[in-house]
Amino acid sequence: MTRSAGRHFLQIPGPTNVPDRVLRAIDFPTMDHRSPDFGLLGREVLGGMQRVFKTASPVVIYPASGTGAWEAALVNTLSTGDRVLMYETGHFATLWQKMAKRLGLEPEFIAGGDLRSGADPQQIETRLREDKAHSIKAVCVVHNETATGVTSRIAEVRQAIDAAKHPALFLVDTISSLASIDYRHDEWGVDVTVGGSQKGLMLPPGLSFNALSAKALAAAKTAKLPRSFWDWGEMIASNKDGYFPYTPATNLLYGLRESLKMLEEEGLDQVFARHQRHAEATRRAVRAWGLEVLAKNPAEYSASLTAVLMPAGHDADRVRKTVLENFDMSLGTGLGKLAGKVFRIGHLGDFNDLMLAGTLAGCEMGLALAGAPIKREGVQAALQYLAECRRAPARAAA
Ligand code: PLP
Repeated sequence: MTRSAGRHFLQIPGPTNVPDRVLRAIDFPTMDHRSPDFGLLGREVLGGMQRVFKTASPVVIYPASGTGAWEAALVNTLSTGDRVLMYETGHFATLWQKMAKRLGLEPEFIAGGDLRSGADPQQIETRLREDKAHSIKAVCVVHNETATGVTSRIAEVRQAIDAAKHPALFLVDTISSLASIDYRHDEWGVDVTVGGSQKGLMLPPGLSFNALSAKALAAAKTAKLPRSFWDWGEMIASNKDGYFPYTPATNLLYGLRESLKMLEEEGLDQVFARHQRHAEATRRAVRAWGLEVLAKNPAEYSASLTAVLMPAGHDADRVRKTVLENFDMSLGTGLGKLAGKVFRIGHLGDFNDLMLAGTLAGCEMGLALAGAPIKREGVQAALQYLAECRRAPARAAA
């Protein structure tokens, strides 16, 4: 392998750049996870995660990737043969639906068409109204579909469930939105929120989360799907004193304590505004190149990543390869139905204006080198917007 000078640009939509402060916090001797000091650490991070999810109910932390927390959400609340209503927003919603099938559930998948829009609350309401026998036990939606850069309007999906007067549980995946895009577990009446460490939380992969509700905890009492490692019961009992029923990922929890501090120093609202600003600057760059953002509806634009649609006949993976080989930057690939059609720019986590400028410069040069028919005006459009935001900060939120 030849050496590349300077820092690699990790601009996939997660795992994201881990800040030095978090790396240093992790680089500390592993402690006794049954010691009094560990109990303090456990309570501190569990409390911090409740603030991030905006919930007063318990949060569970697993030493697992996000897929584990998906499984935990399903096996703790549902029984074999239960019908679940899921929405095809893209590759990750599809994987969750496949998991539900493998676990013995009966997912009903609302088709997402061209994958350029989020979950449609109206369609969910219509389906729930038809379900007079209440055989649908849960509605599952991905808040920020990482494969498309499209968000779903979770508060509106909640209203749709309420309008249909349907008792289904509401399960939401926030793996690529948590701590990047505004999210309110309690206010939006979500029963289980699924999160992961490697995106907005600025940690390496390896931790994942379930935020719960009283209704989810009640459902866990009668849910029959087999579960052991994922069981909330023993976890919550041990967590009361800051401990875990099995060996926790101690050093990642040191990192989590640090990342929570960083999020609170900046302020979650400022973190969200920063992500929105970078997303808007990116969309301006894409349009100035003469290309299209995959997301169609401005109310559903993702603040954590942008999927860029390539013109017909131009392979998005060729652009990614060109960018990696020439500028040492990783961009997200097109997943599932979007393979070869889009590349994804991650602009979430520990990220600032100049990092975005470098990222967009790499994209612009790579697109041109790969022979894509673009105008070389994207970086300039983004820089102009970023500078305007500094002159008139209110514009950034507009
Ligand atoms: N859900 C979403 C929205 C994701 O982006 C990902 C991974 O990127 C997952 C689920 C799966 O999580 P993991 O790969 O950490 O298991």
